[in-house]
Amino acid sequence: MIINKKRNSMSKIKYVYTFGGRTAEGKADMKNLLGGKGANLAEMCLLGLPVPAGLTITTECCTDYYENNCQLPASLMPEVWAAMQKVETNMNLKYDDAENPLLISCRSGARASMPGMMDTVLNIGLSSKTIPGLIKKTNNPRFVYDSYRRLIMMYADVVMEKAEDLDPAEGKGIRKILDEKLDEFKRSRGYKSDTDITGNELKQLAEDFKALVKKYLGVEFPDDARAQLEGGIKAVFKSWNGKKAVSYRKIEGIPDSWGTAVNVQAMVFGNMGDNSATGVAFTRDPSIGTNVFYGEWLINAQGEDVVAGIRTPNPLNNDTKNDQNKHLPSMEELMPEAYKELFDIRCTLENHYKDMLDIEFTIQESKLYMLQCRVGKRSGKAALVMALDMLQEGLIDEIEAINRVTPDHFKQWYLPVLNPIIEATHTSIAKGLPAGDAGAVGKIALTCEKALEYSANGINCILVREETNPEDNDGMFASQGILTARGGMTSHAALVARGWGKSCIVGCDAVHIQNNKVTIGGIEFNEGDTISLNGAKGFVYNADIPTVDPDLTDSRLVAFNKLFEKYRTLGVRTNADSPEDAQRALDFGAEGIGLFRIEHMFYSKGNEEALELLRNTILSKNFNRDLLKKDIKKETDSKKLDDYQSNKTKYETFINNLTRLQEAIKIETKGTLKVMDGKPLTFRLIDPPLHEFVPQAYETEKIEALSKQKGLSFNELKKILEDLHETNPMMGLRGVRLGIVYPEITEIQFRALFEATAELKKEGCNPQLEIMVPLTIGVEELKHQKKIADKTQAEVETKFGLKIDYLYGTMIEIPRATLLADQIAEVAQFFSFGTNDLTQMTLGFSRDDVTTIVKNYVAEGIIAADPFETLDTKGVGQLVKMGLERGRKTDPKLKIGVCGEHGGDPASIEFFYQAGFNYVSCSPFRVPVARLAAAQSAIKK
Ligand code: PEP
Ligand code: MG
Repeated sequence: MIINKKRNSMSKIKYVYTFGGRTAEGKADMKNLLGGKGANLAEMCLLGLPVPAGLTITTECCTDYYENNCQLPASLMPEVWAAMQKVETNMNLKYDDAENPLLISCRSGARASMPGMMDTVLNIGLSSKTIPGLIKKTNNPRFVYDSYRRLIMMYADVVMEKAEDLDPAEGKGIRKILDEKLDEFKRSRGYKSDTDITGNELKQLAEDFKALVKKYLGVEFPDDARAQLEGGIKAVFKSWNGKKAVSYRKIEGIPDSWGTAVNVQAMVFGNMGDNSATGVAFTRDPSIGTNVFYGEWLINAQGEDVVAGIRTPNPLNNDTKNDQNKHLPSMEELMPEAYKELFDIRCTLENHYKDMLDIEFTIQESKLYMLQCRVGKRSGKAALVMALDMLQEGLIDEIEAINRVTPDHFKQWYLPVLNPIIEATHTSIAKGLPAGDAGAVGKIALTCEKALEYSANGINCILVREETNPEDNDGMFASQGILTARGGMTSHAALVARGWGKSCIVGCDAVHIQNNKVTIGGIEFNEGDTISLNGAKGFVYNADIPTVDPDLTDSRLVAFNKLFEKYRTLGVRTNADSPEDAQRALDFGAEGIGLFRIEHMFYSKGNEEALELLRNTILSKNFNRDLLKKDIKKETDSKKLDDYQSNKTKYETFINNLTRLQEAIKIETKGTLKVMDGKPLTFRLIDPPLHEFVPQAYETEKIEALSKQKGLSFNELKKILEDLHETNPMMGLRGVRLGIVYPEITEIQFRALFEATAELKKEGCNPQLEIMVPLTIGVEELKHQKKIADKTQAEVETKFGLKIDYLYGTMIEIPRATLLADQIAEVAQFFSFGTNDLTQMTLGFSRDDVTTIVKNYVAEGIIAADPFETLDTKGVGQLVKMGLERGRKTDPKLKIGVCGEHGGDPASIEFFYQAGFNYVSCSPFRVPVARLAAAQSAIKK
């Protein structure tokens, strides 16, 4: 959205929007300008909810701040001070006042929620001028000094260190130094909790904190309330470009250009004593989606205490009780009136927003205040359950219900879980809070670096940490599961992990990490040891428990599928090359197979014999075709006669091997045709370069072993392998070229497929055979191969005494084929776009080893995304459209599909749908998501 730069009477850009009482200058749909938090604070005011007054500085101001070399626009602070007067009037307090001081918080708030990724400073405005007045007014010195020591800690960390880009001394930040001071103090007094520290002690601690700040950061903690506010605003803007925020944006795909808003809001205090509290809640359960009010709270605490996982939070109500907190009193029990008011607000908000919300509240001396509401992050399971429930409750309609479940959410219903039979034979060694549903098994990684290293090497791992810390983002993303010792269900990292569908267990107090080792339930583990997590139950196992597929018969999953399937028009097929994969894909709702790579049957387990046959065939193709054609009737030279004879023997061996290969292909393809009975199955003729199936010419040991096995001399075999070598194998003897150079290879494939079909027909089945030719560059290749197909078809029909119907098509995966698609469509009965190769050939990026280049290109903004994952609609997309249009010009009914990896990518699916494709085809596990994405594309249109 282009933001209209509103100008005030002095013709300056309006950077500040106030809210308070029942009025606000903003509203919920102004998220782009005010950020999510600011827009919703305004909306809550308009709904008449109890919100402390404040002001929001726009995201546009953040952009201007960065454009202006990290300087605040000149007009900003005067505008802020003018708006502060409104806040003061609203709260009946005065900022920087010696008698009746207003304290404020300074929080970030981007368009999209980035939980914990940016910085917050609370209690701004406390100084030697305002402290005595506040003590007098509240008669609570303990509260005032508790607030002051928190301000010093947060301000020193966020404003004085991070925003100033200071490198922490000895790698230890000021927050850690002050934290250690606090811990040491508690230890020296034998205190268990922060709340045990007395007012006088807090006063002294605040002085000690300031001395440490001066010592480590070299400057005094500012004793001027006005300077504090300006510093806070700058620091929040600066935190938009902090390390963790940048890395979170990368993972979530949030543009750097959006910027954050800053919310300056009157403080209310949850740390004023035992009739004060603070908490976070979800209007429904974010993990499983049930319609219960779900939250956590802490008495006599402030701000981030709940989410930071510093203490185990109390349950909000009975519905929120779990093994970890059931002994703690709930808000419903201890503060029934405030709870009732909060419960009513929950209903007001859900009815207004028609969605599940995540809310933050504070109770100051028994009075409830709302500090935040936003549409809550939820697990995939919860998203679907809530969508169905809200549809039934009449809150939302069918279309909205379908759109509420993103492809990423939906995927989680198909997430792996620990094999329950094997799990039942193990006893868990520890239990924590079940924060992320999936099951996971992997090696323990105690640092993010280790997790990233494992991930880079394709090793599954579980990140084990003391507490869920947003700094761990990259490592969490790289891990299969996350296990933490501390933190509640609403801790930041638990939210993040759930959103990603990771297996996650938090608050597992049986976890103790020390010196590169971790003890879990009394058992000591080293990094690299294997554990398993049941994220749905919170169980940790000292065992390697494999994961299995989820329960597809769940009635809610079935109902949701039925709901969105009504809207889907784009077909969804699968890429499968075995009866097992085909069956799985059918279970996931595939309507056919769009790509059966014949060569894949040679790679699969149990098919070693077929692989040997293929190898024999490849090794025996060292005959000389020209010599075969020679007329030797009049040849008298015995050497030439010998050569001819030996060449003929070689050819016969080749054909013999091919015949046996043909039988193997027939058996294997027949199995899958049978599983797919009545549904279309597209076989793709053998495609990859042949050297992939045999050792490389430099692999001496392998050559030695193979030569013995095949009864060839080392040098003989080496020569064959050298002849197979190609400088650019991806552009070499593969695809249809293989069938042109060796027509026999084409013939045995057609024969195998026709015979499998004929046999099935005889058995009363209904095989729907489709055969496609890969890597075509023009119609001539198709004609060439069709002659072989026609001859073979006639022979098989005669042999079996029946007719074989099949479709003859081609893959479109070379730019030239898209240009000549009109001619190709004269012979091809269908097109299947091979967008993997088409991407490779169009961008000139090797699909096998371009990762580093792509990473850099994406980071530099040269390309938007990895083009092998999400179709490069800008470039490759043009060729796809051209190929489709030209093909359909010749044959308006030409069936067109895609079988490259993009067929399972939601963004690309929308493109294929819009372009007019008949179907997409993807791996079995991606079929459900592809079906949903196809339905959502239709709805969008
Ligand atoms: C493609 O190129 O998109 C394709 C599906 O074929 P393969 O990945 O087997 O080359
Ligand atoms: Mg290909």
